[in-house]
Formats: sequence, C-alpha cells, structure tokens
Amino acid sequence: MSNTLLIIEDNEQNYYLMSFLLEKNGFEVIGAGDGRSGIEKALQYRPMAILLDIQLPEMDGYAVLAELKKHAELEKVPIIAVTSYAMMGDREKILAAGATGYIEKPIDPNTFLADITQYLPKDRGNKGI
Ligand code: MN
Repeated sequence: MSNTLLIIEDNEQNYYLMSFLLEKNGFEVIGAGDGRSGIEKALQYRPMAILLDIQLPEMDGYAVLAELKKHAELEKVPIIAVTSYAMMGDREKILAAGATGYIEKPIDPNTFLADITQYLPKDRGNKGI
C-alpha cells in the first residue's frame, strides 16, 4: 500500500510542520497549496490519506471534500480535516461533509502523529509508525 500522504494546505508554516513530522516518521508527503491542485494530486497519486485544510483560497475545504467524494477511486482514502475553526458544531459539520476525522490547529507536534495514525488504514505494512 502507498505510504504517501497528501497535504492540502495554503499556509507554508503549517505545511512545513506537518510534512516534517510525517517525513521524520517514514511517510512520503505530497503537498498542494490550493484545493484544485489538491484534487488533481489526489487522483494522480492515490495517497494513503489526505490531510485537508478547511480554510483555503477560492475553493474551501468543504468544496474540496464534496469534489473528492465524487470520485469512486478515492472512496477508501481517509480525508482528515485540519482546521483552526473553533466554533461549536464545526466538527459535526466537517464529518457530515464526508471527512473521516478532524484535527485542530495549532498542530501539536507531541500528539500529531498519534492523531493522524488513528485515521489511517491499518494494513499499511511496516512503514510509518
Ligand atoms: Mn488555510
């Protein structure tokens, strides 16, 4: 199985932190800075999972989620929303929109890997944590 994670995130610092933590733990990381290129890369690379920022320019995370859900070949790819939205109900809204899970910003380097891993497919061999 692919050991590649796709991060769709427009903030360079957040992208850098997440990709650093993931690569340090044996994952390969692909990045996309906006929703449209994120969808293209998801279809091209078929990643093990997708980390999706909700606050993105032009096409927000909800629109990206809706588009990804139209592709049957991505049906089994977990989509983990990463967002700093702190409003009540956002978690439910994001999950109802089709996300597999939800991680809050700011990213906590001490818990990030465990937070991500709980949403990953279990049959991914010896790579990663
Ligand atoms: Mn953002």
